[in-house]
Amino acid sequence: MIIVMRAGASLPQIDGVREHVERFGVRSHVARDGFRTIIACLGESDALTESSVATLPAVESVTRWRTPYRLASRQLASHGATTVVRIGDGAGASVGGPALAVIAGPCSVEGREMLLETARGVGRAGAGALRGGAFKPRTSPYAFQGLGLDALRWLAEVRRETGLPVVTEALDPRQVELVAEHVDVLQVGARNMQNFPLLAEVGRIRRPVLLKRGLSATVTELLLAAEYVLARGNPDVILCERGIRTFESATRNTLDIAAIPVLRGETHLPVIVDPSHAGGRADLVAPLAYAAIAAGADGLIVEVHPRPATALSDGDQSLSLAGFRELMRGLAPFATAAGRTLASPPVGREAAA
Ligand code: PEP
Ligand code: MN
Repeated sequence: MIIVMRAGASLPQIDGVREHVERFGVRSHVARDGFRTIIACLGESDALTESSVATLPAVESVTRWRTPYRLASRQLASHGATTVVRIGDGAGASVGGPALAVIAGPCSVEGREMLLETARGVGRAGAGALRGGAFKPRTSPYAFQGLGLDALRWLAEVRRETGLPVVTEALDPRQVELVAEHVDVLQVGARNMQNFPLLAEVGRIRRPVLLKRGLSATVTELLLAAEYVLARGNPDVILCERGIRTFESATRNTLDIAAIPVLRGETHLPVIVDPSHAGGRADLVAPLAYAAIAAGADGLIVEVHPRPATALSDGDQSLSLAGFRELMRGLAPFATAAGRTLASPPVGREAAA
C-alpha cells in the first residue's frame, strides 16, 4: 500500500498514519515526492484495510502496489524524476542527472602505473569515474583472480592523484568494509546479483552500489535485488544492464536494449549500460554504447586498457585509450539527441594524452 499525504500534512499527522500501519506489523518508509509526503508500506497485512487508512487525517490517496518491489518502484516518484546518485566527494560525478555518467577503466587493476595511465587517459577524454577490478569473479579457478588489497590501495592512490571517483567489485560480504574504505562505489557483479548476504551487507554501507543484472535474471529479479539494498537503508543504487545469456553465440551476451526503457518505467533508480561485457568484443562497444544512450540509459561503464593485447582479463573487449577517445567523440550526437549532456574533456590536454 502507498499512502500519499496532502501537501502540508503535519508531522503528527504523518506519524499518526505510520503508527496505524505499524500496529498491523507493517513497516513504513517515508519518501518525498515534490511537496508531498508518501508513506510506503513495506510488507503486507490482510487485516490492514485501505479504508481504515483513507479516513485518517491528511491522507490524500491510498493505492495498492503494482509491483513486488517497493522502494525501487517508480510508484514512489510519481513526478517521473530519476534518483540522482552522487559518486565521490566534492565535485565528484553523478548518475541519473542530465549529464551522462561515463565510468571507464581496466577490467582488472594490473599495477599502479597502468591504472594511473588509464585514469589520466580516460579522464582527459571525458570519463567521470574510473573502474578497475581488485577481486575478480572468474569462471575458472585457474584464471587471474585480481590483485586484491594492492589493487584497492592503487585505486585509492589514483583517485587522490586524478580526482576521479573509483568503482570496484566486492565479491564477498566479508570484503565489503575493506572495499568501502578504499573506493567510492561498490560493484555487485552479475554472478552475485542474488547473493543475498552480499546485498544485505552493501545495504548497510554509506557508499553507492552499482548492481549488475545477472546473466539469467529478469528485470523483476534485478529490481528485487536492488530492493534488498534499499530495504537495508542504502538509497544509492545504480542499476546496470550488461547483457544476458541467450541462444546467440555471436556475442558474449545479448544486450537487452528493451530493458532500459522497461526499467525507466518501473523504477526511479538510474540505469547504466556495460557494452563491454554485453558484446565481448572491442568493435561492438561503440555501437552498443550509442544504442544504449539512444534508448535512454543514464550512462555507461566501459572497459579500457592502455594495451588491450596484453590485458590479464577481458582484453578482447577492452578499448585502447585512443579507442575510448573515439567512443567519446562519437557519443556526443547521441547524447544531444537523447536530451543529455556529456562532460567535455579539459581543453588542450586531450591532445597531449
Ligand atoms: C566486470 O565488470 O569486470 C565484471 C566481471 O562484470 P559482470 O559482473 O557484469 O560480468
Ligand atoms: Mn571484465
